[in-house]
Amino acid sequence: MASSTKYIFITGGVTSSLGKGIIAASLGKLLQSRGITVTIQKFDPYLNIDPGTLNPYEHGECYVTDDGAETDLDLGHYERFLNVPTSQSNNITTGRIYNNVITKERKGEFLGKTVQVIPHITDEIKSNFYKLGQEGKYDVIITEIGGCVGDIESLPFIEAVRQARWDLGPSNFLSIHLTLIPYLKAAKELKTKPTQHSVKQLLEAGIQPDILVCRTEYHLPAEVKKKLALFCNVQINNVIEAMDADSIYDVPLLMKKEKLDERVMTKLKLTSKIPLDLESWKDFLGKLKNPTQDVTIGLIGKYVSLPDSYKSIIESFTHAGASIECQVNLKLISSEEINSDNFQAKLEELDGILVAPGFGERGFEGKIETVRYARENKVPFFGICLGMQVAVIEFARNVLGIEDANSTEMDPMTTNPVIALMEEQKKVDQMGGTMRLGSYACDLKKSSKAFAAYGKQKIQERHRHRYEFNNDYLEQIESKGMIATGKNPETGLVEIMEIKNHPWFVGVQFHPEYKSTVLNPQPLFVNFIQAAIDNKKIK
Ligand code: GLN
Repeated sequence: MASSTKYIFITGGVTSSLGKGIIAASLGKLLQSRGITVTIQKFDPYLNIDPGTLNPYEHGECYVTDDGAETDLDLGHYERFLNVPTSQSNNITTGRIYNNVITKERKGEFLGKTVQVIPHITDEIKSNFYKLGQEGKYDVIITEIGGCVGDIESLPFIEAVRQARWDLGPSNFLSIHLTLIPYLKAAKELKTKPTQHSVKQLLEAGIQPDILVCRTEYHLPAEVKKKLALFCNVQINNVIEAMDADSIYDVPLLMKKEKLDERVMTKLKLTSKIPLDLESWKDFLGKLKNPTQDVTIGLIGKYVSLPDSYKSIIESFTHAGASIECQVNLKLISSEEINSDNFQAKLEELDGILVAPGFGERGFEGKIETVRYARENKVPFFGICLGMQVAVIEFARNVLGIEDANSTEMDPMTTNPVIALMEEQKKVDQMGGTMRLGSYACDLKKSSKAFAAYGKQKIQERHRHRYEFNNDYLEQIESKGMIATGKNPETGLVEIMEIKNHPWFVGVQFHPEYKSTVLNPQPLFVNFIQAAIDNKKIK
């Protein structure tokens, strides 16, 4: 396999949730800040073809790329850190690998051979490892392997990584193992044994890690590093300490201090193309940590007990808030707990209200109450996807007096389907990958709040929905002051609804949160926070 692209593989051990995605994104950022082109891909060991059909409580939010792939939320971190779009090729699951191999088998492509995990599954994994590298756009591809070493389901991926070392050669291949060094309070000691065992497991699989990144609550003393180096067979300066950080956005600077990027570059014989430049990143961090004002915003949804379900929205508030030096105190409120008796008490302290994306009926009426409160009390309101649909239904019911107005998602028999299944969705009989997904164009009305935010008429945003605004009701709804200010230029599908006589009431059918990055805060979020600041002043 002749290629000049360098490959870094990141595995995890001891426990899950150590933040492989953040370490991958931080390393990517450091390399990118030296002019090296990088992309990051994630290989997930579960059998779903993609996370699109998973309940957010399983794995958190499903992140959507421009090309309409439904992916793991770590891809969101990759984009937010690197400011470079990802695609379907950046996220592969075991399910997809098997699906590809079985499809080839049915076509007879294996010419009568017995189809086996080794070599057929591992070959398929490897060809996916190398796919983005073959585009010729990247100097470095970082591959994050989901799960922990030792998991039965990640074995074929680990085996493929072992083989990749021989395909690529030692100066194009690097293995990083992320582990945990627990602190035992009673013994007042940092313990290396779990890491030793985890590395042993990797060695059994034939992989010698080049670099250990060690998550820890306390600084690693020199003797701990020495012990890790000795037992895990790595150079002492390749034992990298990863202390818990206040913010995920601190991690690139922490890794810089620990010289992770330099260690990687030495092993891979990479040289900086420009002097390291992290000025804009530091500028963002400075603003993030020194806010001059603050607002309280409510995020009303039904998956609030797992904040990862709203990862991109939460991060969008961080980027947008920092850009105007405002600390956003985000309150996650379950829509199931809001009703016509308690809405005032639940919502009155909020300076702005966001109704979240979602599916299904649970918590729906609480969202209706929330929108009514925001509309009537002129509280800045931002509705995303389902949030926009709820806003339309609330308006039809309470302003137009169409009492049974609904979405056919909530009530398929409603006589007033102001939100209805899209025509092309009617023939869909499979759940996975069949929504209206990915980037579509939207034209904005010049007089709109959306135009004021974006500062341009044509925008592109990402989507994930089956239902849409029913244009049969447009005239009626617009005559009462709710205006379609953004539409798809080809189909006329309503993308944005705004209320005229309201300080800031914007519902969007798309998901603006997927495109917010540290360096490009999403304009609607920025203007929504600004509207909440203005509201707080007059409250
Ligand atoms: N359930 C709604 C639809 O499918 C909204 C989806 C969403 O909020 N992402 O249209």
